[in-house]
Amino acid sequence: MANTRKAADNCSGRPPTRRPRRAKAAPAASCSADIEDLAPAVPGAVAGAAAAAPAALRSQLLRWYDEYRRDLPWRRASGGEEERAYAVWVSEVMLQQTRVPVVVGYYERWMARWPTVRSLAAATQEEVNEMWAGLGYYRRARFLLEGAKQIVEKGEFPRTTSTLREVRGIGDYTAGAIASIAFNKAVPVVDGNVVRVISRLYAIADNPKESTTVKRFWELANRLVDPLRSGDFNQAMMELGATLCSKTKPGCSECPVSRHCQALALSEENPSVQVTDFPLVVPKAKPRSDFAAVCVVQVAQGLEKEVTDANSNGHLFLLIKRPEEGLLAGLWEFPLVLVDEGKTDLLNRRKAMDNYLTKLFSISMGWKSNVILREDVGEHIHIFSHIRLTMYVELMIINLKDGVDRLCKMEDDSTKLKFVNESSVESMGLTSGIRKVYNMAKAFKDKRLSVSEKGQVPTRKRNRQLKK
Ligand code: SF4
Repeated sequence: MANTRKAADNCSGRPPTRRPRRAKAAPAASCSADIEDLAPAVPGAVAGAAAAAPAALRSQLLRWYDEYRRDLPWRRASGGEEERAYAVWVSEVMLQQTRVPVVVGYYERWMARWPTVRSLAAATQEEVNEMWAGLGYYRRARFLLEGAKQIVEKGEFPRTTSTLREVRGIGDYTAGAIASIAFNKAVPVVDGNVVRVISRLYAIADNPKESTTVKRFWELANRLVDPLRSGDFNQAMMELGATLCSKTKPGCSECPVSRHCQALALSEENPSVQVTDFPLVVPKAKPRSDFAAVCVVQVAQGLEKEVTDANSNGHLFLLIKRPEEGLLAGLWEFPLVLVDEGKTDLLNRRKAMDNYLTKLFSISMGWKSNVILREDVGEHIHIFSHIRLTMYVELMIINLKDGVDRLCKMEDDSTKLKFVNESSVESMGLTSGIRKVYNMAKAFKDKRLSVSEKGQVPTRKRNRQLKK
């Protein structure tokens, strides 16, 4: 495509002449990248300005999109507007988590199980977590379920950005995507890809995380959006950012809107400027380091049916439900307790874990007399957006005789803990960090027991023999 173009108007009124400097690390709170944080400070501040948007840019971009858009399952959603709205909603929330190729599989499994918002509303949180497992940010999965219940209760899918914003978990970005793509409302969307395209089209060198800059992006997106094909235009902007206008290797020679791109114009005038200088790169704040003792507790026998969710009287795993608020809210995990950085040695970790388990069940458990095997399995580091969690994993196999029953009776709220068999652990929606912990313990046990009878829990005597 020819590169003879006119430089677009710079919204600041003065063209940047120097390469933008890197910003200082932002405080942690502003670095918890969430697409919905890219919200307009004054929604609709430039309503009516669309008439002044460059019509040529719209038509060139739409023509390119019509020809080159990727064939993605959520773009094939059939049925009425509400079915399409549901498809857009699910896909957009998933796309906030990870890359398109990963989302495709999750999306198809999700829609096969819950093809309508009504079917999703009838699901349980456990089922949703199970389906979501591995995507991260489980809060979003919870909001999808709560939002579906809200919509079903109301009787219809909201159609405007303001009514969509009333649904649990739907922010300005998702509201704009649903309203424009499913209901063809002439409203903009601004995600990371759109930020990149706009910052290059207008050579905006300001910090894209700052609220005034964010507001400016929304204003410009609102000015650009095609009033007749808003959904396609918004998808085209996102598609351009996800494909040709990439972070590090933009394909400007193929770009349908290169003649409007001010960053490209500047780079051609001044060799010290590159289009990849836009948007400004804001270094992420260093994640906090946390440390945790995790104990995969396996109960060998002495079980009563009512305390299990499986009909096996074999080996059961103890799972604890996290609090309903905060990190990984409401998800199941193996007993996990945070420890201070200076107390990560085995003795201190075991002491912390024993205290935790004793406190959890409100009784003196006398673990030692029942422990068949207790071994360190290894470490696993899990990175959250703002936390680097080092988990020290141990495996503990215990024989409680009638202890499990007693433990559950001591626990007032039985929804906070459960004992599950191996096949349930394999299939349930554990977080990727806890799944890794489970696999570590399993691999350790398989290796350790490989010289004994397969599948047999080691006795103390056998354990001593194995150690020799
Ligand atoms: S691909 Fe190149 S020309 Fe097109 S918007 Fe991005 S930086 Fe500008």
